[in-house]
Amino acid sequence: MISIPVAYHVSRKVVSETNGFLRLSLRAQTELAILWSGVVKDGLADVMSAWLPRQYASPGFFAIPGDELFALNKTIYELGEQIVAQVHTHPTLAFHSETDSEFAVTAMEGGLSIVIPDFGDAPLESLSKCAYFRFMSGRWNRLSHPEVKRLVRYY
Ligand SMILES: [Zn+2]
Repeated sequence: MISIPVAYHVSRKVVSETNGFLRLSLRAQTELAILWSGVVKDGLADVMSAWLPRQYASPGFFAIPGDELFALNKTIYELGEQIVAQVHTHPTLAFHSETDSEFAVTAMEGGLSIVIPDFGDAPLESLSKCAYFRFMSGRWNRLSHPEVKRLVRYY
């Protein structure tokens, strides 16, 4: 049975590792994509790992090579986890570009995509700065602040 997450619990370890990766984006002034994996069970996505895939990154673009994604998926699968979310940075504003929607790594129903502005120079939890999207019925929908608060809990 496919379980669609209706709640995300993000561990402190994942938050601190993600913040570390975001600083790399800021330092290099390039977009950067981070993946989150975890266990989905009974509607809860327990986010347990943050990953920085090998990627081509530039000020306005990132791309993860297929072989890297394949290898990473294998590692994650062997941990008993799956990719549940992607987090990526933008040079300025946080939004979901057409490219972001088309090439999103997460294609899981209910999957999460978080866009951080200013090359990662904003806390993940900042709903006024970051933009949260959820993949439902084949498309990415932006979540309102109350929706994010209901869906995602940071530890
Ligand atoms: Zn983007």
